Amino acid sequence: MKILIEGIDILTADPEAEYIKNEDIGIIDDRIAFIAPASQRSGDFVPDRRISGKNMLAMPGMVNAHTHCAMTLMRNAADDLPLHKWLFDKIFPIEDKLTDEAVYWGTRLGAAEMIKSGTTAIADMYLHMEAAARGIADTGMRVNMSKSPLEFHSEGGFRAEDVFDDCRVFFNDWNGKSDGRIKVYIEVHSTYLFDRPSLIRASELANELGTGIHIHLLETAREREDSFEKHIKLSV
Ligand SMILES: [Zn+2]
Repeated sequence: MKILIEGIDILTADPEAEYIKNEDIGIIDDRIAFIAPASQRSGDFVPDRRISGKNMLAMPGMVNAHTHCAMTLMRNAADDLPLHKWLFDKIFPIEDKLTDEAVYWGTRLGAAEMIKSGTTAIADMYLHMEAAARGIADTGMRVNMSKSPLEFHSEGGFRAEDVFDDCRVFFNDWNGKSDGRIKVYIEVHSTYLFDRPSLIRASELANELGTGIHIHLLETAREREDSFEKHIKLSV
């Protein structure tokens, strides 16, 4: 399959590179074959499809380093509250009722919206991660998926009963899948929902699997104050 994008402006990832105006991009299968002014294009390149680049910009895909893709379904559920009130009073009760199916479709909806606006790589942490992974596997996006080693519940966020083995299974099932586009991390939701022993155990699990941790950290002034009080007191 040969595609020719004609007369497009190009922003490259190289900060030293010039902003390229009004050139053609030739694509063969899933690779860029050339970027060149129309006058320099080889006559050998006969495209199967032509796309006009007029008033368009070609640029590297954007990266969203923190998503909860399936929460697209909760848009406008309670958008105007402080973080803790929003999370504990409004969102957790909704999330308690989530199903695999809802997360699957919510993840696909979130992915579609991001692809539409140019985001091609994300780091997603959420619930029902098996369903989320199935939802995103065939989108073509590069995805870092993180799964929590503590089980979620609506009143306090996460149960003390752990699901560390589920994390190991999820890691083995999904890390490196979709031609290497999926990577699996360990989710540590936050220092306010994970107690100190759980933080340490999650870190040990990430080390054991040779992977990283995705965490909410110091999102609000209140979290900073609470965290310093809790953890500095504990460490002295
Ligand atoms: Zn978040």
